[in-house]
Amino acid sequence: MEKAHCTAIVLAAGSGKRMNSATAKQYILLEGKPIIWYSLNAVEESQVIDDCILVASSDDIEYVQEEIVEKYGLQKVKAVVPGGKERYESVHNALQAIKDRIPTSKYVFIHDGARPFLTEKILLDTYRAVVEYKACVAAMPVKDTIKISDENGFIAQTPNRNLVWAVQTPQVFERDLITDSYEKLMSEIEELTKQGIAVTDDTFVAQMYAKIDVKLVEASYENIKITTPEDLKIAAGFLNK
Ligand code: C5P
Repeated sequence: MEKAHCTAIVLAAGSGKRMNSATAKQYILLEGKPIIWYSLNAVEESQVIDDCILVASSDDIEYVQEEIVEKYGLQKVKAVVPGGKERYESVHNALQAIKDRIPTSKYVFIHDGARPFLTEKILLDTYRAVVEYKACVAAMPVKDTIKISDENGFIAQTPNRNLVWAVQTPQVFERDLITDSYEKLMSEIEELTKQGIAVTDDTFVAQMYAKIDVKLVEASYENIKITTPEDLKIAAGFLNK
């Protein structure tokens, strides 16, 4: 079967408040390279991904274009587009950019730029799953027992650990399906926000609006998101192993 056109969306428009750093976390150097370089390089070298839209804060676009895309010769990055205040706005902007600039794209791989340990195996396994199921997400079974709390900080529920997964990225979808889902989301977002519903991942949007079953694809415990300062030590450990 001929390989379909695949586009990555790499998200780097977050403020990274939980890192307590003056530099936005995606630009902090890890073994001499900005964190964001690692996933962009995995995309660049991938047999699966054809091209990429990079999302950055509007103030950082010039810096990212010159100091990341041009400096490291990232040929697959077709545009650096401005993100929004919330992650879902950043994703929506990137999907619009794909619609305008890469109309032949069939599948989109939405990836957090703060996850440097993206591998070709994860891209290949999620590609195979999206072709079969239309929607899938990299994920890993949790190691800890997870508790759901009530509003006062007491345990309300204990989900069966064998069925609990931590979702990562890439979150991968047929492009039309996720583009339509995001358009519906944006038309209802004010109402959802009023109801206190926080939209923090793409599978939720696809499930809600496309009514689709999303396949969990076992990825890697190393595919961590750099969020707090201790994650930098873990990441350095992975690079030096
Ligand atoms: O905030 P969180 O760590 O969940 O962000 C996940 C990814 O989404 C990060 O790579 C971040 O840069 C990106 N993001 C974004 N636009 C936002 C918020 C987060 O591109 N408004």
